[in-house]
Amino acid sequence: MPAFKASVCLFCGARAGHDAGLAETARATGAMLARENWRLVYGAGDIGLMGAVAQAMRAAGGQAMGVIPQHLMQREVARRDLSALVVTETMHERKKVMFTNSDAIIVLPGGAGTLDEFFEVLTWAQIGLHRKPIVLLDADGYWQPLLALIDHVIARGFADASLRGLFSVASDLDDLATILHAKLAQTA
Ligand code: AMP
Repeated sequence: MPAFKASVCLFCGARAGHDAGLAETARATGAMLARENWRLVYGAGDIGLMGAVAQAMRAAGGQAMGVIPQHLMQREVARRDLSALVVTETMHERKKVMFTNSDAIIVLPGGAGTLDEFFEVLTWAQIGLHRKPIVLLDADGYWQPLLALIDHVIARGFADASLRGLFSVASDLDDLATILHAKLAQTA
């Protein structure tokens, strides 16, 4: 019997971006995960928004599993104080281990790596490989251009309209917690 209620995979930036408000949102996300007793499953790093989530999560006494390829241990400053640290050989293996150990996926603002991770789990859902909830946190409207791109892809006939139903969009942190509660209850 695990000491946490569910495992939530986090994809987000290894950079903090230019907006201090997003770092604050990342810290609040870490605190929320600890409060809800949801285990954080993430890239193990201590930098950028992902580091901010992990720092707040650990400060609040939450549990975290970090998954990182050997070659990024230094570059992404792997934390050694996590409940579990898995060191993989490749990036692909990292994503697989993160995914298989999670009940849901949340996506905070990030860059190309975050987009890669989001599209991988989205396309896996599109071909029916899983039904794990995927939730974008649209903090400060960060993901609006991505949502417009996805709508454009659907409008031009390169994806079915159902693609838009394979993930949720949370407007703020309270909304994210509410959506996760509802989705995790459905999949339990
Ligand atoms: P970014 O959004 O570019 O700051 O990257 C966020 C995280 O995604 C970082 O920890 C990167 O190491 C990770 N990442 C980038 N590309 C990949 C990939 N192809 N597979 C797994 N992780 C990746």
